[in-house]
Amino acid sequence: MVMPWINEDMCVGCGICVENCPVDAIFMEKGKAEIDMDECIRCGKCHEACPRGAVRHDNERIPADIDENIRKTMELMGHYKSRKEKQAFLGRMEKHFKKEKIVAEKTLSGIEELKIKC
Ligand code: SF4
Ligand code: SF4
Repeated sequence: MVMPWINEDMCVGCGICVENCPVDAIFMEKGKAEIDMDECIRCGKCHEACPRGAVRHDNERIPADIDENIRKTMELMGHYKSRKEKQAFLGRMEKHFKKEKIVAEKTLSGIEELKIKC
């Protein structure tokens, strides 16, 4: 587990995750648990402790994240009139996501090196 997140629909606000977090990164907001990702050390204890399975794995959000990227791209594309402008815009979006891909790939390489060194 790398980036835990809480499914609000599944959370019943019992607070067990709050008690089990070693760095007090979880707080209650309107009866639901929320994680402060700046404080979270990615230990996974909240995932193991939640009796409702409300603390979910980050990779479950992949389809929703992709949908959001496409939705945002379509929304921004609406600002351009001609096909030429739209094509140029889509090219810029491609560059942006290719950059993100390179960042992720190089980060993974860096983590592999850390695994060897530690
Ligand atoms: S342990 Fe699970 S159900 Fe209870 S507050 Fe935390 S996330 Fe919600
Ligand atoms: S992963 Fe660990 S540090 Fe992060 S919120 Fe859960 S229990 Fe706290």
